[in-house]
Amino acid sequence: MSNLIRKPTLESKSYLIGIFKGLMITGRHFFMNLLGLSKRPTIQYPEQKRNYSSKFMGVHVLTKKENGEIACTSCMLCATNCPAECIHIVAAESPNPKVEKYPAVYEIDLLRCVFCGFCEDACPVDAVRMGRDYELAELAERNFVVGIDYLMNRPALNNKNISVFHEPHKVVTKTAVGH
Ligand code: SF4
Ligand code: SF4
Repeated sequence: MSNLIRKPTLESKSYLIGIFKGLMITGRHFFMNLLGLSKRPTIQYPEQKRNYSSKFMGVHVLTKKENGEIACTSCMLCATNCPAECIHIVAAESPNPKVEKYPAVYEIDLLRCVFCGFCEDACPVDAVRMGRDYELAELAERNFVVGIDYLMNRPALNNKNISVFHEPHKVVTKTAVGH
C-alpha cells in the first residue's frame, strides 16, 4: 500500500518550475518559427493556396455540350438523390427540337449542401460535377443559392482545374465497370 504513495517531487512542490518549462517550450517554438527553422503547418492564405486531393469535392459545375448548351436534361435524378434536398430544378421544353427538356431553373443552396457528391453519381449524362472551389465567403444568405450562370460560367472555372464539358460516354463506362 505504501508503494502507491508517491513522494512529492521538487516540481510538484513549486509551480514556478512548471511555468518555467512551459515558457521554454513556447519560446523555442516562437524563435524556430521566427527564424524559419521549423516546418510550419500554416500558409500565407490567400496568397498561398492548399493543394487539395483530386478527390476533393467543392462547389458544383454544370457541364456544357460542345456547342455551349447546358448538358442537363432535367431528369431530376440529382435532386431526387440529394440527401439535403438542396437542388431546385424547374424543367422546360427546349427550343432545340433534338432536345426534349432543359432546366429553366437549376439552383443549389450551398448552405444546405453537404458536398457528398451523390448528385454527381446520380447524373446519367455527366451534367453535374463536384468542382474544386472551396472559397465560399459571402455576406448575405441569399448569395449562397447559386444558379445556372454561376454553376456553368463562374470565373474560377477558367483556371481549368476541372473540365466544364460533359463526357457522357465516361458515365456509361463507369457504370459498366461498377456492375
Ligand atoms: S453534393 Fe450532396 S448535398 Fe450537395 S447538392 Fe449534391 S447530392 Fe445534394
Ligand atoms: S444534372 Fe444530371 S441528374 Fe440532375 S437533372 Fe440534370 S441530367 Fe438529371
